Order: sequence, then structure tokens, then C-alpha cells
Amino acid sequence: MEDDFPENPLQGFSFSCRRSGNCCAQPGGRVRLEAKLLPKIAAHLGLKVEGLLSLYLVQGPDGDFLAKEAQGGACPFLASKDGKASCKIYPFRPEHCRSFPFREDVLKDSRVLASVLRFCPGLRPCAQDNPPPEDSRSQDSSPENPEENSWELP
Ligand code: SF4
Repeated sequence: MEDDFPENPLQGFSFSCRRSGNCCAQPGGRVRLEAKLLPKIAAHLGLKVEGLLSLYLVQGPDGDFLAKEAQGGACPFLASKDGKASCKIYPFRPEHCRSFPFREDVLKDSRVLASVLRFCPGLRPCAQDNPPPEDSRSQDSSPENPEENSWELP
């Protein structure tokens, strides 16, 4: 991290997800899932937990699980629907995915931020007379709000 890197370098940016899927296709961006979520994720995919494990996951440290890398290093839950990226486990995606791009690893490292600014078409500088809304993430949802799951596969 550079000494003069600002506390919140995305303060002057707005974010509206364009469903490019680029954030889910970055090699090395291993998705970590808590063990307690596995039964729900398996049921969501129409699988048994054993099937979820063998198809998608490997055991990680601390009792959690890491998503296997799909072709090119992408997340194995990344899919496509109507020509746009889709997440197979959208209601249960981890905080790492929910909080993108306002994540500590992006906000605290200028090299990561520069990379995100290159690959994410939804992140744009605000015009000076058009400040960003309080929370401009347009694709956020949770299992409690399934009607908002616009990334979810049918
Ligand atoms: S779990 Fe879903 S949102 Fe997270 S990286 Fe994988 S495809 Fe993307």
C-alpha cells in the first residue's frame, strides 16, 4: 500500500453492476464458503452436500471451503443468462462477493484498485455535480429478499 493512498479511494465513484462477470472471472480470486451454508447451497442447486463438494469445492483452512477454479481461473458458480453473467448461488454468495467493489482488499491497495477499475464496467467516476448515492450497489440482495435476485438462475 502506498503511504499517500486515500482512506476511501472510491468516494468519488458510483457503482451499478453491469453483470459483466469480470469480477467473478479473475484468476486467483478464490471464493470462500462457510461450512454452515453448504446444505442451503446444495439444496439451491438441487444437489446433495456430497455432490456440491465433489463438483464445486475443496476443503479450505479453518473448516471452511474454497470454490474450485473453473476454466481460466473463474469461479465455478459463474454462469450466463440472457447474454449476461449470472451467479448460480446468488442468494447465498459470500460477503466477499456481496461487498464488491467496496471491499478492504480493493480500498486498501492501489494496485488492486487499478485492476478493478480496468475490468469493472460498473464502476465510474461521478461528475462533480452528481455525487454518488449513499449506497449505489444496484444488484445487492440477500436470501431474505429473493425477489431481488436478478443474478439468480431460474
Ligand atoms: S459466488 Fe457468485 S458472485 Fe461470487 S464469485 Fe462466484 S459467481 Fe461471482
